[in-house]
Amino acid sequence: MTLAKRTFDAVIIGGGGAGLRAALQLAEANLKVAVVSKVFPTRSHTVSAQGGIAASLGNVSEDNWHWHMYDTIKGSDYLGDQDAIEFMCRQANEAVIELEHYGMPFDRLENGKIYQRPFGGMTQNYGGSPAVRTCAAADRTGHAMLHTLYQRNIAARTHFFEEYFAVDLVMDEEGYALGVVALGIESGEPIFIEARTTILATGGAGRIFFATTNALINTGDGLGMVLRAGLPLEDMEFWQFHPTGVYGAGVLITEGVRGEGGYLVNKNGERFMERYAPNAKDLASRDVVSRAMSVEIFEGRGCGEHGDHILLKLDHLGPEIIQHRLPGIRELAMKFAHVDPATAPIPVVPTAHYMMGGIPANLHGQVVAPTRTGQEAIPGLYAIGECACVSVHGANRLGSNSLLDLIVFGRAAGNHVIEYCRENPYPRTTPAASLDRVMAHLARWDRTGDGISVPELREEIRNTMQLHCGVFRTEEVLQDGVKKMQDIAAKLPDVVLRDHSKVFNTGRIEALELENLLAVALATMVSAAARQESRGAHARDDYPDRDDQKWLKHTLYLAEGHRLDYKPVRLKPLTVESFQPKARVY
Ligand SMILES: Cc1cc2nc3c(=O)[nH]c(=O)nc-3n(C[C@H](O)[C@H](O)[C@H](O)COP(=O)(O)OP(=O)(O)OC[C@H]3O[C@@H](n4cnc5c(N)ncnc54)[C@H](O)[C@@H]3O)c2cc1C
Repeated sequence: MTLAKRTFDAVIIGGGGAGLRAALQLAEANLKVAVVSKVFPTRSHTVSAQGGIAASLGNVSEDNWHWHMYDTIKGSDYLGDQDAIEFMCRQANEAVIELEHYGMPFDRLENGKIYQRPFGGMTQNYGGSPAVRTCAAADRTGHAMLHTLYQRNIAARTHFFEEYFAVDLVMDEEGYALGVVALGIESGEPIFIEARTTILATGGAGRIFFATTNALINTGDGLGMVLRAGLPLEDMEFWQFHPTGVYGAGVLITEGVRGEGGYLVNKNGERFMERYAPNAKDLASRDVVSRAMSVEIFEGRGCGEHGDHILLKLDHLGPEIIQHRLPGIRELAMKFAHVDPATAPIPVVPTAHYMMGGIPANLHGQVVAPTRTGQEAIPGLYAIGECACVSVHGANRLGSNSLLDLIVFGRAAGNHVIEYCRENPYPRTTPAASLDRVMAHLARWDRTGDGISVPELREEIRNTMQLHCGVFRTEEVLQDGVKKMQDIAAKLPDVVLRDHSKVFNTGRIEALELENLLAVALATMVSAAARQESRGAHARDDYPDRDDQKWLKHTLYLAEGHRLDYKPVRLKPLTVESFQPKARVY
C-alpha cells in the first residue's frame, strides 16, 4: 500500500460538537486545520442531543455559576475535579451567548431572551428549589448546535475529510503526537494526515452495551487509539444509565420531558420517585432515578406483561406543550413505542447512555499521563468532548452539562493549540517505524476465510457488558465479567472478514471498530471490578456506601497487563472555596 500524505497545523478526529467547536477556534485564527470524521460531520451523535445545554443565565429563575458548580460537584458524587468544574460553570454563560451570536436558533421567552427549562440535579441556592438552567432549541438542541457550528466552519475554511476512518495515532519515540493515519472509507486508501497537533474528539462508546441510546458509530475509537499508544484511560467504571430509553428500542426520551412536567409511574400508577427523592422527585440525578426504577422492577412493580419496564406519563401536559416543546419526542414515541404520548404513557427502561470516564485531559484539553514526576502533558496531543475525562462529570454527569463541556473545552483546547503552534513552528520528522506500526495494524484486517465473524464477537461483547456491568453490580458478577471479556479477547486473532465485505470496506471498518469496542469493554470491566464502593453511576450491591476514605480517587487503566493505578481527586477549585464531600440526597 502506498501512503499519501497531507500536512496541517492541527488535525481533529471527530466532527461532533467538541471537534467542530475546536476547529472553529483554529480556523478563525488562520491555522490550517483538518477535521476527520467517519460520517458526514452533521451526522455525529451530537445531532441527537435533545434536552439542552446548561448555563446559569437566570432568564427564568434567579441563578449564578456558583450554584451550578455546586450542583455539578454534588452530581459527580464528589469525584469531579473542582478546578475543572469551576472553569466550566464560570464560562457557561459566555459560551452559550457565543453560540447564539454564531446563529444558533434557541427557543425564546416572551421577552426575547433564551428559553430555559428545569433539568435533573440543577438547583438554586445549593440544593434548594429546582433551577431553570437548561437552554433549549425545542427537543433538538444538539441538531441546532451542530449545524450552526458546521456552517461557521465552512465559512472559516476548515478542511473536512468526510467519511475517513482514523485508524491509529502516529507518535515518535519521544512521545510527541505527529498526526493520524486514516482510511478513506469509499476508496479503501490510507492517508497520513501529518500535523503538529492532534485533537481527539471521537465521542462516546455506548455501543459496548446491548441496550444503549448511542448511535452505531459510538464505538470508542479514540479510546482504542490511546490505549494502543500505551496511554491510560481514566474512570472507565462510570457509565450513566439514562432512566428513559424507549423499552425494547433504546431510543432516548429526553429528561426535558420530566423538566416540562412529565413523571414516572409503576404498575400501580404510583408516582414512586416521591419515595426515593422526596424533594427532587423525577428530577433527581440520573443515577438515582435509574436505580429507583430498577428496584421497582426488581420488586415486582414493573409494568407490562413481563413487569419489566416503567411508564413515563406526559399526557397531562396537554397536546399544545407536547407539540410545541417536545415535537421530536412525540415522533420518536409514535415510531418506536407505537404510542402517542399526548394520550398514553411511554414504556421506558434505564439504558446505557453516557461515558463519564475517558482519555485523561487537563483544563486546556491536553492529554495527561502519569510519570514518576507527576502528571505530564503529552506534547501535541489533546482530547475533548465525551471521549475525554477532564473530569467535570466525576461519577455521574448532570443532564445538559455535556453539550456545555463540548463547547467550553473545545474552545479551551483550540486556544492552547494556537499557542502550542506558535511555540512549535515546524513539524517534527516522522520516523518510518511509527508509520510501519500503523500499516501493520491495518494489514491485519486483510484476512478472509474461515473463522469467527466480526458481528459474532461484537454481540458477545455487548451481551457480556449488559449482563455483567449494568445498573447494579457485585464482586462475583464483575469478576465473572472480567474473565468472560478476557476469553472474548483471546478469540480476536481468530476473527476474519467475509470475502464480500471488502467490496465497500465496511467489513474492515467494522473490524477496526470491534477492536476498539473490546478495548473499551475490558477497561470498563476491569476498572469496575476493582472499585469496592458505590459512587454515582457505579452501584455495588455488596458495597452499598460511598467510601471517601479509600476511594475518593480517579482510576487509571492501562491496556498492557490490564494494569490499574490511581490519582487523587482535585478538590481545590481555581478561585473559590472547595465543596467538601457530604452525603448526597435529592
Ligand atoms: C440520544 C442522546 C441525547 C443526548 N442529549 C443530550 C442533551 O440534551 N444535553 C447534553 O448536554 N448532552 C446530551 N447527550 C450527550 C451529548 O450529546 C454527547 O456527549 C456529545 O454530543 C458528544 O459530542 P462529541 O463531540 O464528544 O462526540 P460526537 O458528537 O459523538 O462526535 C464524534 C465524532 O467522532 C467521529 N469519529 C469517531 N471515531 C472516528 C474514527 N475512528 N475516525 C474518524 N472519525 C471518528 C465521528 O464521525 C463523529 O464526527 C445526549 C446523548 C445522546 C446519545
